[in-house]
Amino acid sequence: MSIALDFDHATHTARAAAPRRRSLVRLSKPDLRAALADIGLEAREAKLRAAQLWNWIYVNGVTDFARMTNIQKGVRQALGEAFLLDRPEIVSEQVSVDGTRKWLFRFRDPQRPALPPVEIETVYIPEADRGTLCVSSQVGCTLTCSFCHTGTQTLVRNLTAGEILGQVLMARERLGDFPGGSRPADGGLVPGGESRAITNVVMMGMGEPLYNYDNVRQALTIASAEDGLSLSKRRITLSTSGVVPQIEPAGREIGVMLAISLHAVRDDLRDMLVPINKKWPIKELLQAVRAYPGLSNARRVTFEYVMLRDINDSDADARELVRLLAGIPAKINLIPFNPWPGSNYACSSSERIEKFADIVNRAGYASPVRTPRGRDIFAACGQLKSETERLSKADRDALERA
Ligand code: SAH
Ligand code: SF4
Repeated sequence: MSIALDFDHATHTARAAAPRRRSLVRLSKPDLRAALADIGLEAREAKLRAAQLWNWIYVNGVTDFARMTNIQKGVRQALGEAFLLDRPEIVSEQVSVDGTRKWLFRFRDPQRPALPPVEIETVYIPEADRGTLCVSSQVGCTLTCSFCHTGTQTLVRNLTAGEILGQVLMARERLGDFPGGSRPADGGLVPGGESRAITNVVMMGMGEPLYNYDNVRQALTIASAEDGLSLSKRRITLSTSGVVPQIEPAGREIGVMLAISLHAVRDDLRDMLVPINKKWPIKELLQAVRAYPGLSNARRVTFEYVMLRDINDSDADARELVRLLAGIPAKINLIPFNPWPGSNYACSSSERIEKFADIVNRAGYASPVRTPRGRDIFAACGQLKSETERLSKADRDALERA
């Protein structure tokens, strides 16, 4: 059973009351300084205020300039007139029987307030020793992997860096991770002890992160800044279906852990399951993985492999998988297929998954089988989707003119 909570939208809404105010959540520190210079602060003050703002936004989770007590009142007022610290609106929050939590978040573009808002899903998966936030990068997806629910929603738009960060900030607030916050008292789990509720972030929600490269890079760089949200790059994982040309830049410029949605060991089958394979087949993909900057036994790449009954789950598939990955410092994550309304696949039996895992384990790979989490609330891998639809260009233009 799951519960859906209603929110007081008045308190959780970050509407663009003054539409042309600029959002600060997404700016690098130098850009933050430049934005402050733009409203007339001289260089030394802009530098000081940028450091203070950074701390308020990312360490303290403050969304109201009035609470920034170490900034003079007049400056706070000017900041409030020029800028926004916008967060998504929570449309719904569901908690699974296993403690997994899923939010439907709504974003408005403060720079284009006439356009309808977009909605995406974000999932929190608590375990005994860690809490993982599964973050979306796009509204829908341009790719059409045949076993993935998100793939049935055409791309509406990329999320901005601020919207990607907004998911982390909002989740931290709801889970009581900011100073003075409190844990939710509704039965959802969080890891024990003093640790943060969110210890890990995975870019494994809706969308293909490497097709929204600049915004994902910006968001993850800010999320891992030590004097801010301070998530270790070893605890951030970016998953890609195989956008080969972006893999090396991602390692060099973002430097987070890499996961590859492999799912098949032959090109004819992968062409069907993960159609981007037609553009960048398995051989090219694995070449790019081998060249991933920083790859080592201590920093292994994860290969995700969805277990589809009678499709990709034979002993021969397992042996070929081991052969293909020889020499790559890797972990193999076997994901039982999660069904969704209208899906055409079935999940492999648990005996089959065990046998497959056994072959992979005996070849020396750690191959944990990912226990499906949050299936009852459609929060498991590949089950995310929102109702947001793409407007035609003519409709968008008409709304912006109105
Ligand atoms: N677009 C990126 C990020 C999404 S990650 C990517 O494809 O890698 C989500 C993971 O869940 C991917 O490995 C995806 O292939 C997998 N997945 C998609 N649909 C699934 C389903 N129905 N059951 C299990 N895993 C699924
Ligand atoms: Fe897009 Fe990833 Fe789903 Fe494929 S698996 S459709 S790339 S979200």
